[in-house]
Amino acid sequence: MSMIQCPNCKSMVDNSGAFCPNCGTPIAAAPETPVQPVQAQPSQPVYVAAPVPEKRGAHGCSIAGFVCGLLGLIFCWTYIGLLAIPGLILSIVGMSQKNRSKGLGIAGLILSAIALCIWLIVLAAIGIAVL
Ligand SMILES: [Zn+2]
Repeated sequence: MSMIQCPNCKSMVDNSGAFCPNCGTPIAAAPETPVQPVQAQPSQPVYVAAPVPEKRGAHGCSIAGFVCGLLGLIFCWTYIGLLAIPGLILSIVGMSQKNRSKGLGIAGLILSAIALCIWLIVLAAIGIAVL
């Protein structure tokens, strides 16, 4: 006869009985080893590997801003040049986030600003031409 720990209520009970006298949980006629305290796993430091998931939102904003600025610049003589406006906004949003896409945000901001300037100049030129 030996004492084992009840798996349910953790009280020490005699393993000769089929049930824990304390809570009624069936006691397996367990081998000598009393309940192993929470299997202490060899503490391997879990290195969650390098690629830290980037914050999509901010990064996406920078990319979108950059693309919009670029398209706005390329098509600055058409209405597509208006893309520079969302490009500008998205770039600022992307830039305001502290992450590595900041450079892209700045690039997008500059591109968008240039595109917007050209677009306005073009618009003014057309306006003058029409008048
Ligand atoms: Zn029990």
